Formats: sequence, C-alpha cells, structure tokens
Amino acid sequence: MSATNQSSSTRPLPPGTVLGPDGKPCKICTSFRNWKLPTSSRATTASPNKGDAAQAMASATALAASAAAGEGDTHTRRSAHCPPDVESLGRATWTFLHTTAAYYPESPTPTQRAHMLQLLHSLPQLYPCSHCAGDLGARLQRRPPDVRSRAALSAWLCATHNEVNVMLGKPTFDCARVDERWKDGPKD
Ligand code: FAD
Repeated sequence: MSATNQSSSTRPLPPGTVLGPDGKPCKICTSFRNWKLPTSSRATTASPNKGDAAQAMASATALAASAAAGEGDTHTRRSAHCPPDVESLGRATWTFLHTTAAYYPESPTPTQRAHMLQLLHSLPQLYPCSHCAGDLGARLQRRPPDVRSRAALSAWLCATHNEVNVMLGKPTFDCARVDERWKDGPKD
C-alpha cells in the first residue's frame, strides 16, 4: 500500500489509527476494524509525537481508503494478499507460539531451553506491533518464561495469553484445555 501524494496537511487521521514510536501511523499496530474513512475530527488512539504530520496523514488516508474497500467480518472480508493488522498478526503469532510450546520436549536439554528463552526474549525486540512488544517485554520481566518442560511452557504461555486477553477485554481461556486446543484436538 502506498501513501497518496496529495497535499494532506489538513486531512484528519482515520479514527482508530495507532501511531508508532516515530509518530507516524503504524499499520501493524492498528486493527482494520477500526479503520473508517475520516469524517471531520482527528482521532487517534496513541500519539507519541506529532512529527511529520503531513506524511502521517497521507499514509493514514491510504490505509483508510484500503480499509474502506472491504465491509463485513474482518476475518473474511480482506484479501489474502493484504498485509496483516494487529489482530491477524496476533492470531498467527499465538498459533505459532502455542503450537511450538505444544511440541516442545517434555524434558528439554539445556540447549533447547536456551533456544526457547532466546525465542521468547527476542519477541519484545522484534515484534512489529511496537506497543504489543513493549507490553510483552514488561510481562516477561514480571513473570519470566518457564521452559523446564512442555507442560510448564504451555501453562506459562496460556497464562501470558490470558493476561493479554484480560487487558484487551477478551474472555480468558481455560488452560486445562490447552493441549486439546493446540495439540490433540477435541475428543470424539
Ligand atoms: P487471539 O487472542 O489471537 O487467540 C487466538 C486463539 O487462541 C483463540 O481463538 C483461542 O482459541 C486461543 N486462545 C485464546 N486465549 C488463549 C490462551 N490463554 N491460551 C491458549 N490459547 C488461547 N493486541 C492488542 O491490541 N494490543 C496488544 O498489546 C497486543 N499484544 C499482543 C502481544 C502478543 C505477544 C501477541 C502474540 C499478540 C498481541 N496482541 C495485542 C494481539 C491479540 O492478543 C490478539 O491476537 C488479537 O486481538 C486477535 O484476537 P482473537 O480474539 O482473534 O484471538
């Protein structure tokens, strides 16, 4: 998606646009469901600084136009060729993390434990949604990953995901069912 090249210094940002640490609209920090064509007022959910506003607004306008092209459920309305938003990236990342935990060894070697710790501690540095990354980093500090076994890691990850669920106002998941969800499937 490219930014428009119109003069956009007076164009408002689409409601729900999240700005990144550089003060520009952060596509991967924003939910597509929040992207609506701007009306008259400027409304953002985060505003670290106001630098480079014209470019930010041009980018945001392109994002809003792209979002407005689809209607209905966000899971189905977008083309498979669209870049991810914060929600689809989150779902994909949780799928990767829970599945990796589900297949982690029952008795991991020291090297396997070290690799798992490296993977988890890399996320706050590399996860492209900057506010998600910052939040995860704080959680890892408060409650460090338990990589001693498959069961311990799955339980730790489930609790961590539940913390994020609570923060986002989502229902919590029953961690007793984590293997059913991510490894074994439902019993017949
Ligand atoms: P998701 O929360 O993505 O869950 C996917 C599936 O996992 C669910 O359908 C359910 O079957 C299963 N599940 C749910 N909870 C658990 C659990 N506790 N244990 C095991 N399985 C479970 N979004 C933000 O807006 N702000 C943030 O700060 C933010 N931080 C994030 C940090 C990380 C590390 C990740 C991976 C994602 C983050 N997200 C954040 C995205 C957010 O967590 C969701 O992924 C997104 O909102 C989509 O939610 P969803 O309802 O589709 O299900």
